[in-house]
Amino acid sequence: MNTSTSSSAAARGLPRIAVLATGGTIAGSAADAANTAGYQAGVIGVAQLLAAVPGLDAIAQIHAEQVASIDSKDMSLALWTTLAQRVNDVLASDEIDGVVITHGTDTLEETAYLLHLTVKSAKPCILTAAMRPATALSADGPLNLLNAVTLAASEAATGQGVLVAFNNRIHCARDVAKISTYAVDAFQSPEIGALGWVQDGRVEFQRRALRPHTVDAPFSATAQWPQVEIVTSYAGVSRAAVEALVAAGVDGFVVAGTGNGSIHAGLQQSLAEAAARGVAVVRASRVGSGHVMHNGAAKDDALGFVSAGSLSPYKARVLLLLALAAGAVDKEALQNAFDTY
Ligand code: ASP
Repeated sequence: MNTSTSSSAAARGLPRIAVLATGGTIAGSAADAANTAGYQAGVIGVAQLLAAVPGLDAIAQIHAEQVASIDSKDMSLALWTTLAQRVNDVLASDEIDGVVITHGTDTLEETAYLLHLTVKSAKPCILTAAMRPATALSADGPLNLLNAVTLAASEAATGQGVLVAFNNRIHCARDVAKISTYAVDAFQSPEIGALGWVQDGRVEFQRRALRPHTVDAPFSATAQWPQVEIVTSYAGVSRAAVEALVAAGVDGFVVAGTGNGSIHAGLQQSLAEAAARGVAVVRASRVGSGHVMHNGAAKDDALGFVSAGSLSPYKARVLLLLALAAGAVDKEALQNAFDTY
């Protein structure tokens, strides 16, 4: 479904922003206004979301599109490909100056990083979401959407990669993580902090992301994704999951290790055997902040492992999917991807 705002906004020459809706709690509906946990995500259409935001017309000319209507816990690789394609097509148009994507909070950080590496445009590309359904008292969606459109319409967001506008903060797609199951301030960029803020029509960046992204990243979403799974190391972990996945033909593992990506001895042995059979193995950490350092000849190199640096296991999986899809098969090429992006 496509909708557009009034011709008066067009007449004022305002930035032209495409709002691509995918569902999530921001489009959620509950039986009563006091209910912020028991609701159905992704049921309210994009036109209704926009109608709940007074003043949008004064910021931008909106072109609205419903790309999907899902709870983002159900995000699929196929929908990632559709969304990345749609964002690229829309941003390639001379008629559009920036994109806002409304999304569920559950997998927002994964989609954001995927787009950060696969959108081939310097125009602003902003994701936003909400922790409370649209029907809730003090719903946070309308203000988040207003701020996302404000950011997308701002010159300052150009060339900054994919950004997340949430609760007045601007986060880099690579760094941002959902850190609360219920709080309205649910997103942080652990260790590093937000890039800046957006409030009352004002946008301020306090720093820039340093790693290459968007037009400087060589990746693209594909119709033929490899199979990459995440396994976790914990007390008493068995080899069963790794062995079953290797038997099923998995292409890569990200291991959410303890501490600095350390792995229980039995699990490590099964992963080293998988690596010897050509399965990519990337060590990340389940800790939630910090980084996993490459530990050199005696360990990673001998075992055939790659280290994820500061990427969370979920984002390391996104990069491993893209790197394998781009044909990076040997360990050096994969480590180079993790050291670069
Ligand atoms: N389950 C919802 C989703 O990710 C949660 C949210 O949006 O806050 O779609």
